[in-house]
Amino acid sequence: MACLFCNILEKKVPATVVYEDEHALAFRDIRPVAPTHVLVIPKKHLAAVHDLDDVHAEAVGRLLVAARRVADQEGLTKDGYRLVINDGDAAGQTVHHIHVHVLGGRSLSWPPG
Ligand code: 5GP
Ligand code: ZN
Repeated sequence: MACLFCNILEKKVPATVVYEDEHALAFRDIRPVAPTHVLVIPKKHLAAVHDLDDVHAEAVGRLLVAARRVADQEGLTKDGYRLVINDGDAAGQTVHHIHVHVLGGRSLSWPPG
């Protein structure tokens, strides 16, 4: 499997894992853009938001719940944080396995670049 994040799931590529449950894995981004920058991925490979359909609703819901747990665990809930999913080239998606960026620990400007 050529997918980088599937390789992280299979422990073929090392990562600093901060959270894991039956459906999701969360690990620190290798190039953090905020004091806290964690990626949360579904354990089942899904390439992108534009591939989602009704059958994926539960998986996506679980992914968001996992992201919320990561944010709590990282101490971000009081001050606030941002969840980002980049979809496709214009948004800068570089890894084609859906991932939620959990960003926090500083103030985050809006709109994003
Ligand atoms: P995207 O640009 O697709 O939304 O986000 C991909 C993210 O994966 C980037 O923030 C990038 O820094 C991160 N990333 C790329 N390769 C690796 C890796 O090997 N390990 C980890 N932990 N993060 C990675
Ligand atoms: Zn994958």
